[in-house]
Amino acid sequence: MIQLFIPLNFLGFVYREIRESLINIERVFRLMDQPPRVVDRPDARPLVPDGGEVAFEGVSFGYGADRQVLHEVSFRVPAGHKLALVGSSGAGKSTIARLLFRFYDVDGGRITIHGQDIREVTQDSLRAAIGVVPQDTVLFNDTIYYNIAYGRPDAPPEEVHRAARLAHLEEFIQRLPEGFDTVVGERGLKLSGGEKQRIAIARVILKDPSILVLDEATSSLDSHSEQAILGALREIARERTTLAIAHRLSTVEDADTILVLEHGRVVEQGTHEALLGANGAYAALWRRQQRGEG
Ligand code: ADP
Ligand code: MG
Repeated sequence: MIQLFIPLNFLGFVYREIRESLINIERVFRLMDQPPRVVDRPDARPLVPDGGEVAFEGVSFGYGADRQVLHEVSFRVPAGHKLALVGSSGAGKSTIARLLFRFYDVDGGRITIHGQDIREVTQDSLRAAIGVVPQDTVLFNDTIYYNIAYGRPDAPPEEVHRAARLAHLEEFIQRLPEGFDTVVGERGLKLSGGEKQRIAIARVILKDPSILVLDEATSSLDSHSEQAILGALREIARERTTLAIAHRLSTVEDADTILVLEHGRVVEQGTHEALLGANGAYAALWRRQQRGEG
């Protein structure tokens, strides 16, 4: 009995370890919404992002054959410009971000970056060119340092510290018992939504991509932290092509172009002023939010 008991106990330990790592991998895939089914073409080349001009040309897409989610969506974001995507929940905003990252392939039309169809480039080079601040940031059960450096593990420590400073994390980290070496995540220190978001912002600053995707990036911050972070985000977005998804219209007023989506269709496109002047869907959304927030 005793002889049997020890190995079984040990196996139980090994099993728990394996199960926990599998759960973590599974969680990462689920949270990133990433079905690993898109594959590189045999002749795939590395993307040359240059300034990161993004174009959607008549893009149609559905997650299943039964329901189309995007209907011939077209827009162009010149290098260094900022495009805001607005529209009610379920309109297809996050889907646009997922397609740009090529988590799925389009059913119709095409997506290009600096003129290259994203289906013709390697996924590694595509994802290296795009930095995402998602709605829900996944933290690894590892140190704050690892979690920030994750996008560029070979970055020198000064740059990791600088990214933390620009993301307004410095003070928070200084107050932790082990600073940058504090373990966070499921089995470590639990961080608030806003703190996790700032880690995601630090990751992106360190990654230094040509294209930035902000998916309601300041949604879990209180309005004081939001102002600070919006300032930092504006700073890093300045040089980059940016796609910003937002519920709160006040956070995207400064975009070069605002795209209004309804049920997967582009219903309006223009600057904040032009769209207010047009007195259509955007103006109605704006008035509703002004009343709500005021
Ligand atoms: P938004 O970001 O504008 O709120 P989404 O792009 O997330 O909208 O979703 C657009 C539509 O696609 C919604 O109807 C949503 O239910 C559906 N959808 C989103 N993700 C999936 C998925 N993984 N599988 C099936 N349907 C999905
Ligand atoms: Mg969304």
